[in-house]
Amino acid sequence: MISAINKKMQKFDTVIIGGGAAGIVAAISARRSGKNVVICEKMQRLGKKILISGAGRCNISNLDLNEAHYNTEGRELVKSIFSRFGREKIENFFNELGLKLGSEVSMIFPATDQAASVLRVLEDELKALKVAVELDFEVNNIAGSPKGFIVKSRNGKSIMCNTVIITGGGKSYPSLGSDGSCYVLASSFGHKITAPIPSAVPLVTKDIFCHLLQGQKIQCVAKAVIGGKVKKETEGELLFTKYGLSGTAILDISEDISIIINRLGAKFAQDSIDMVPFIGADELKEEIIRRINKGFTEENLMIGILPNKFSLVFRDLFKGASVEKIVNVLKDKRFDIIDTKSWNEAEFTSGGVNVKDIKESTLESKLKKSVYFAGEILDVNGERGGYNLAWAWASGFVAGLTE
Ligand SMILES: Cc1cc2nc3c(=O)[nH]c(=O)nc-3n(C[C@H](O)[C@H](O)[C@H](O)COP(=O)(O)OP(=O)(O)OC[C@H]3O[C@@H](n4cnc5c(N)ncnc54)[C@H](O)[C@@H]3O)c2cc1C
Repeated sequence: MISAINKKMQKFDTVIIGGGAAGIVAAISARRSGKNVVICEKMQRLGKKILISGAGRCNISNLDLNEAHYNTEGRELVKSIFSRFGREKIENFFNELGLKLGSEVSMIFPATDQAASVLRVLEDELKALKVAVELDFEVNNIAGSPKGFIVKSRNGKSIMCNTVIITGGGKSYPSLGSDGSCYVLASSFGHKITAPIPSAVPLVTKDIFCHLLQGQKIQCVAKAVIGGKVKKETEGELLFTKYGLSGTAILDISEDISIIINRLGAKFAQDSIDMVPFIGADELKEEIIRRINKGFTEENLMIGILPNKFSLVFRDLFKGASVEKIVNVLKDKRFDIIDTKSWNEAEFTSGGVNVKDIKESTLESKLKKSVYFAGEILDVNGERGGYNLAWAWASGFVAGLTE
């Protein structure tokens, strides 16, 4: 990588703060538009989060890429950005870098199934374009200067520039670099920050089911129930753990629960799990009655319908229970959620730089000319399935076009 720092303070057209998915693509886009660009990255290498995304496979986008898959506050902004750099342009961008793509259901992955391939083609393009990269450069101040900005690092380095693009990410997985430090930079220009909370995160409950079933996976329908109303419903995998509930279905419904516990301060929320979605309540009732009449004990009542480990639940919790109660619990098991797991286990951040003060077509700040934002630092978060990386690529590309 090319370093920017000489003894004399260097001047660039554009400084990009944060070398993750959004920052790397912003740098490519800015450089292709003729700008002299440097990426300032606090870690010892670029794109650490790209490498672990999609469990190392990197789900880079989705065939059904549109604003409906994003939180409501950010939707108009997302729509506007995808109208400039949407699904086809994202795919073409990677194809032109030499990355072959394939899809699984609607999720788009690199054909190599390796996140490392995605980072490699991006880094090769940075090198080909001679984008300067400063590693171990944690930006802690952006000062105004008569000629633009002076971007300063925690360890005393400075770079001058005309334009700043802030792509420092949210707060999830802080060990990979994004720890929320860029919210402070945004606030220094007057931007409001919607309280960041962990999203796509496992849920904590003391329910005895989790104790008895820890390590067990099932397919389920999971619902977030807020104030007695179903806010979100999804079908997928549920994993019972020592502390509570995990698995894709739980991550998918976790945002609404995280909002009311972590942002609004509620003591607990509920989720509802249909543990046998493949069988209707009436049919299940008939099957249980048939089995009881045949002399099944509680312990083997659900064998062949649910995994064998459920015998423990039936042995310990359902002695003498009515058929109606069993059916109710299996079709609508309520878990009292008392907390979420922390940032170290959250895939995304819900919240961040409020989008009301961001120009929809360019991502420039409405409060400070020549300051742009892209990626997860903005209060834009998508569903799981490639929507968050798609947002990072698209917003990074558009922000890099700077006016
Ligand atoms: C386990 C996991 C799996 C995921 N899988 C997927 C997936 O398959 N598909 C999908 O769409 N999304 C996935 N995501 C989400 C997706 O990875 C992120 O939304 C996306 O990477 C955000 O990109 P970003 O560039 O905005 O932020 P980041 O990738 O977080 O990059 C921000 C960069 O800024 C740097 N930085 C932060 N502060 C400073 C500072 N003050 N100075 C200098 N540098 C700074 C950080 O070190 C970091 O390199 C996953 C996330 C996780 C945690």
